Amino acid sequence: MAPPPASPWSLRSWTAPSALGPYSLRFFSVLWDISYVHPAVASSKNLRNATTAPVKASTTAAMGLKKIIESIQVPCSNTKYGCSMKTSYYERAGHETKCRYAPCFCPDSGCSFSASTGLLQEHFSTEHHWPFTKCKYGWCFYADVKEGVHVISSEDEQLFLRIIASEPFGCVISVFCVQPHDTEPKSRCAVTFSFWKNNSYHSQSSEFQAPSTTLSDSIPRDRFLFILPRFYIDEDSRICVTMKKDSGFQHEKTDTLGADCYSSLFSPKGK
Ligand SMILES: [Zn+2]
Ligand SMILES: [Zn+2]
Repeated sequence: MAPPPASPWSLRSWTAPSALGPYSLRFFSVLWDISYVHPAVASSKNLRNATTAPVKASTTAAMGLKKIIESIQVPCSNTKYGCSMKTSYYERAGHETKCRYAPCFCPDSGCSFSASTGLLQEHFSTEHHWPFTKCKYGWCFYADVKEGVHVISSEDEQLFLRIIASEPFGCVISVFCVQPHDTEPKSRCAVTFSFWKNNSYHSQSSEFQAPSTTLSDSIPRDRFLFILPRFYIDEDSRICVTMKKDSGFQHEKTDTLGADCYSSLFSPKGK
């Protein structure tokens, strides 16, 4: 004899069918609130003379309904960006505040692309052809002083953008940590610039926290933290950039031997 068909309301974990969307779940939640009568209320003055049997029956049914709702697994809203996580209806909001697949945005003014940081990094290379450097924390690499965007990815796949903008007085530089949730900065960036020509010498360096951003409002224009005077900038100008974890001091090393391991575009100047 064939087994009886499984009840769609059996108390096992299952995934919400498409017809059972968030509105249906809210309906069940409302039903739960109406049908459940708290024992403290049931024993209050107004209900003192009423029989408790209907209350117990209602409570049992509501508890069953609550278990059903808790067993329903709903997908994360970032499924289209690659997240495969399914949670209970009540836990979904908590997951989505930390979901690493939540989208970040392309900062190009003519582009509306958004995706997880991994896909966004690919997009920067394939669509915009922005220069890219794979870096290692604590190791410096050299980069040209040219206006535009430079994509940096660290050894733990953290995505950074180094931005150089030209101003009448020189160039302004900043580095942003691109991540889906605005959190406290966890990375630092050290920038060093040296100029030595015709017996004229100038050197400056700075270390700052890399602000985190989703780039939802394009590139923040108020966070440029390193200023190069135009007097010292020429066609060969380069800066030395070192990305650092914000936890503890890391001894800085110059990658003078294996620069190709960490930079696809720039080689050490060997100064
Ligand atoms: Zn997710
Ligand atoms: Zn784009």
